[in-house]
Amino acid sequence: MAEIADVVVAGGGVIGTAIAWRAAAAGLDVVLVDPEAGDAASLVAAGMLAPASEALFGEGALLRLNLLAVRRFGSFAAELEEATGHQVGLRREGTLAVAYDPGDYAALIRLTAFRRSAGLDAEELDSRACRQLEPFLTPDVHGGVLFADDWSVDNRRYAAALREAARAAKVRGVRDRVLEVRVRAGQARGVRLADGGDIDAARVVVAAGCWSGGVAGLPEALRTVIRPVKGQLLRLRHPASVPPVIGRTIRAIVRGTDVYLVPRADGELVVGATQEERGPDQTVTAGAVHDLLHDAMSVLPVTSELILAETCAGLRPGTPDNGPVVGWCGPDGLLLATGHYRNGILMSPVTADAALALLAGQAPAPEWEPFTPGRFTGEDGSR
Ligand SMILES: Cc1cc2nc3c(=O)[nH]c(=O)nc-3n(C[C@H](O)[C@H](O)[C@H](O)COP(=O)(O)OP(=O)(O)OC[C@H]3O[C@@H](n4cnc5c(N)ncnc54)[C@H](O)[C@@H]3O)c2cc1C
Repeated sequence: MAEIADVVVAGGGVIGTAIAWRAAAAGLDVVLVDPEAGDAASLVAAGMLAPASEALFGEGALLRLNLLAVRRFGSFAAELEEATGHQVGLRREGTLAVAYDPGDYAALIRLTAFRRSAGLDAEELDSRACRQLEPFLTPDVHGGVLFADDWSVDNRRYAAALREAARAAKVRGVRDRVLEVRVRAGQARGVRLADGGDIDAARVVVAAGCWSGGVAGLPEALRTVIRPVKGQLLRLRHPASVPPVIGRTIRAIVRGTDVYLVPRADGELVVGATQEERGPDQTVTAGAVHDLLHDAMSVLPVTSELILAETCAGLRPGTPDNGPVVGWCGPDGLLLATGHYRNGILMSPVTADAALALLAGQAPAPEWEPFTPGRFTGEDGSR
């Protein structure tokens, strides 16, 4: 016999799990389906919550959404810690962006002018001032900019806490893959699973990251919009003899290439990341490990003393305009929440808020207006 729920969520990364938790906490009966194959981008990510140092030319609407997201993150994380008793490793020390050579510095200053014009706080620092903040930086660093309002979170602790909160709120987990959204008379009726079973629900949320387009029943235009963007990343550990080498996130431009180093309270140092258009490939390559370590050591030579604990690769859910896709689409009752690309950890609380508003028949925050599925399908998305 089919399982029955108010809402079925396809995808147990941070987006699907945050939505499932908040929906269950609001009193809905929720089933969360995920094959739990360990492929989720959410477990690979660096965990930067960095609207300022991530802001790029031409992405003003995305910046406004990211700023809403960072403002919301603190209270959401506090509620999550309260609900589970798990610490998620939120850090508020800011990001120091540094430039390796004069060309890199010119690029950083151009970006900084744009970020300031968008109202972001950015303090330019010479090489010496950078090293006063981060003494292990090489003296070769040309200069930098401090973005004091950027944060970070330990994304693995955060994802684990979300899963725990969902369990505690009575979300029922199903270890399977959603094949299709079942539709009758223009209304979503639930999902069909890979094992042949069905789950009946009048509301279906597809939050399967870069795999969302694989779920049959989504409007055709959306199935091709989401693409995987591969990112390779390293996790280093401090040996007992070496104290923490940095106190805040460092993002560096090294001869035109970006690298970041994100410290964790437990002594982990995350170094990332590549951005590659290689379809669903999750292999780790020798060249990427070499390049990431080379660029990290160029600005922070002491990196060579650390232990290479893990190499990993994940698939960001990318879209043509780099913005998320959150809203009703296709048959009544079908909600899409994906496409968070480089900022899915940061945006998970506000995505859960938006999904909850939509499930309650309300409008999400106005910052979401540019990011409805309708921009790809032509539908107006109101329900
Ligand atoms: C190297 C790297 C660094 C990153 N750094 C950051 C960062 O610093 N800050 C930040 O905010 N973001 C970062 N991101 C982006 C962030 O990781 C993603 O945007 C976010 O994790 C997307 O979450 P998600 O839940 O949509 O997808 P995922 O985490 O990929 O989860 C999707 C889930 O759906 C499941 N699934 C797939 N198909 C189906 C199906 N048919 N039925 C049911 N379930 C299914 C999968 O098993 C998976 O668990 C980074 C990403 C990468 C790869």
